[in-house]
Amino acid sequence: MSNANYIPGRDDDDDEIEGYVKIDRYNTGLIENLSGHYHNILKQIGENPEREGLLKTPERIAKAMLYLTQGYDLNAKEILNSAMFTEEYSQMVIVKDIEVYSMCEHHMLPFFGKAHVAYIPNGHVVGLSKIPRVVDVFARRLQVQERLTNEIRDCIQETLNPIGVGVVIECRHLCMSMRGVQKQNSVTTTSAFTGAFLHDKTRTEFLNLISAKLS
Ligand code: ZN
Repeated sequence: MSNANYIPGRDDDDDEIEGYVKIDRYNTGLIENLSGHYHNILKQIGENPEREGLLKTPERIAKAMLYLTQGYDLNAKEILNSAMFTEEYSQMVIVKDIEVYSMCEHHMLPFFGKAHVAYIPNGHVVGLSKIPRVVDVFARRLQVQERLTNEIRDCIQETLNPIGVGVVIECRHLCMSMRGVQKQNSVTTTSAFTGAFLHDKTRTEFLNLISAKLS
């Protein structure tokens, strides 16, 4: 999708977040179209979209939605390939406590928490900052936590071809806590492994390392 229609600096919203205007999907035609739908939704839930506080809300939701689903336009494998280099290091590499913000595909409500990602290089390593980027690319789509976990694992496995990959994600789902389906503070944990991480010893080492606190 093109951003040709977007005029930088046009948006003077005071709730604008830094980086918010950088998305390719940010084109005015799409935003107008989405805003029309959200205007309708506001009416149908019993609101008055013409009252002052809601005047710009449809447009804000449209922009927020495009931001929160920008992962559809990003290619995680390309991101890893762009920062991959040859290195003989062959110990476990762990990036832990990566912030995750995603939306469940069943209710379009947020789920959020932490991801911990590890791999054992097989001749190639990747710039560490790229791992959180990969998490983000898959999280910024409508998701279920299980699939998110597998997609991160598979992307790293298929690109870096390491000796193994381990991914653990711990999230709170607002569709559960806000709707009172489960205890307010319950956390869902998912995990996905390949190669060496399928063996007890390596997996246990990984799980111990992500639960250890730095002293
Ligand atoms: Zn849900």
